[in-house]
Amino acid sequence: MKLNTIAKLCCPFDKHDLQLKVVAQDVEQNIIEGILSCKTCKRNYPIVYGVPIMAPDEYRQSALEQPILDRWVKDYQVDPAKLLG
Ligand SMILES: [Zn+2]
Repeated sequence: MKLNTIAKLCCPFDKHDLQLKVVAQDVEQNIIEGILSCKTCKRNYPIVYGVPIMAPDEYRQSALEQPILDRWVKDYQVDPAKLLG
């Protein structure tokens, strides 16, 4: 996913701008892994393999998202508290 594409995304719930925290990029600056955060409703949307996960709450499962965060901590030494804070 390209940076300028991500810049056009907004929170699906309140349409506010999202803040991007990059975890991993490829050589062409495409975002491979990251977190989009909405400051207004405090939701976090992970970007996994270049795809933002922006499903409604009822389709989201922390059991599915937690392994992603665990993998980032292991592979990229990221601090999940900083990502989600
Ligand atoms: Zn929001």
